[in-house]
Amino acid sequence: MLIQSVHAHINANREQDINTLIELVKHPSISSNEIEVRNCAKFLKDIMIESGISTQIYETKGQPVVFGEVPSNLEGASTVLFYGHYDVQPPEPLDAWHSPPFEPAIRDGRLYGRGAGDNKGQLLTHILAVRSYLKMAGDLLVNVKFIFEGEEEIGSPSLLEFVENNKELLKADVVLTSDGPIHDSGTPLVAFGVRGVMNFEFNLETATTDNHSGNKGGVIPNAVWEMVDLLATMKDENDKVTIEGFYDDVLLPSPYELDLIDKLPYDPDSLAKVYGVEKIDLNKVQFYERLLFLPTLTINGIKGGHIGRGTKNIIPCRATAKMEVRLVLNQDPKDIFNKVKQHVAKINPKVIVTQEEEDMKPSRTSAELPISKAIVNAVREGFGMEPIVLPSMGGSLPDFVWTKGLGVPSIMIPYANADEANHAPNENMMLECFYKGIHSSAQIIFELGKLKEQK
Ligand SMILES: [Zn+2]
Repeated sequence: MLIQSVHAHINANREQDINTLIELVKHPSISSNEIEVRNCAKFLKDIMIESGISTQIYETKGQPVVFGEVPSNLEGASTVLFYGHYDVQPPEPLDAWHSPPFEPAIRDGRLYGRGAGDNKGQLLTHILAVRSYLKMAGDLLVNVKFIFEGEEEIGSPSLLEFVENNKELLKADVVLTSDGPIHDSGTPLVAFGVRGVMNFEFNLETATTDNHSGNKGGVIPNAVWEMVDLLATMKDENDKVTIEGFYDDVLLPSPYELDLIDKLPYDPDSLAKVYGVEKIDLNKVQFYERLLFLPTLTINGIKGGHIGRGTKNIIPCRATAKMEVRLVLNQDPKDIFNKVKQHVAKINPKVIVTQEEEDMKPSRTSAELPISKAIVNAVREGFGMEPIVLPSMGGSLPDFVWTKGLGVPSIMIPYANADEANHAPNENMMLECFYKGIHSSAQIIFELGKLKEQK
């Protein structure tokens, strides 16, 4: 079988494929709308079954998971698991849309509608790639599995538990996620990891009430000063976090990852403009090492005392700091939280440290694995362009669900245009990106099959 015939089939089915997406986007599957989410799950299941994928809906403690698979006839074939989500963000504000969010419309080479890019247009590319592949080849040289959840837009509260309870069902050699946009320049992206994130708060009370700064000045403590003093002990003048043991488990980039960094685009002047800062005083390696491979300690906000109009002349009795850590491999959120608490206890034991939300663990897959390289090759073919290969991303996603929960490599290959307006009015997916996504996913299936043959 020639892979060209699969690509030709995809090209011949453009109209049918975009119509399938239009029907899918018509479902107002806003995460909180249980009835519509379930209707959408059923509709998605129908599309998958029509495409030759045996599909079932699984209940979770929240919205259902749509699971599908196409086993290969090839003995010992490897398995790829495609992850996506069929729930969408609420469409408000409605009057900002040029066409109604759940009446998808094509204008200027884009399909407009809530969920067009995030994530229906992207998850559908995998299904349609399999459909064309099966039509032309009859068999796939890899086992293909799909897991589509209905709760991504509310933080995937049931996903980890579902994955941990269904390890055999989901067993795979690699997990692929197509969500989010490609690079601003229109260049495709392949990303191999994310930083984790952990939020916490420092609270300090130095008196039961604010006091007059003249009548009591110099004799009682000031909560804001004490908070500022504490914060000042957590970082040195080179931006290095001074909490004991903070960097102990940090895994620095491998020579291969440094090589990837070397190939990344870097223009500090234009970045400075985009970020609205005077300048970025870092070379390329420093920039990417800090952004992708090093943890951060960030003050998100400080509250305390009087900052309204006029003077108040008080000694504030309370201060709060909202704090955040971006974690990298192999930092453990619990361990880092304990180290933060120990540091605070040593400097100012009156400060109460609390963690509000659940943390998200960091995750990374080696870009050097044969399977990783095969995916990069496939995206190059599918988009007809050299992709940007990010050894990790600066942001945070629940990628650890795959790398830790399932214990397999996980790779992110976004297909949507950079201006997809996800979560915003006039969300859209460029038809060109949609089709290139289908070609890329077909090519992934092909390349992974080839990889097996070479073994
Ligand atoms: Zn989203």
